[in-house]
Amino acid sequence: MEIGRLLFLTQALATHAIVGYALVRGFTGIDPRIGALMGIAPDVDFCFPSEWGWPFVHRGITHTPLFALAVVLSVYAVRQERALERAVGLAIGSHLAIDSLSPKGIDWLFPFQTAISPELPVHGPIATVLLWTVSIGIILFQEDLP
Ligand SMILES: [Zn+2]
Repeated sequence: MEIGRLLFLTQALATHAIVGYALVRGFTGIDPRIGALMGIAPDVDFCFPSEWGWPFVHRGITHTPLFALAVVLSVYAVRQERALERAVGLAIGSHLAIDSLSPKGIDWLFPFQTAISPELPVHGPIATVLLWTVSIGIILFQEDLP
């Protein structure tokens, strides 16, 4: 993998992790590291062998509301803890929301391949700085609360 691509993916994963971390820290009582982990969970599809094909490709099944719902319901089946379900849903939902705005988009209506996107550079430098700033703001705001 070329270095530019590797840096881009690292920055994108870091953005998903910090946004998930901040949302879970700011809006649930759950360990925010779960938010960071669940924030990057949809990108597990980078590990899928290419011969698997659709829907086991990048921005395939793991980037769908169906996947998010399956993970949240799985957490519910195991733990039955509302705050944890909300944390997992927030973190994965933030990933889907960010990626859906990107030029490639996501298939909101999976299994139909219907990616519609405003084609924003959400993993570009300006959006990255904006997402990190808002996330750090949420974290710092939480620090100020009693
Ligand atoms: Zn993704």
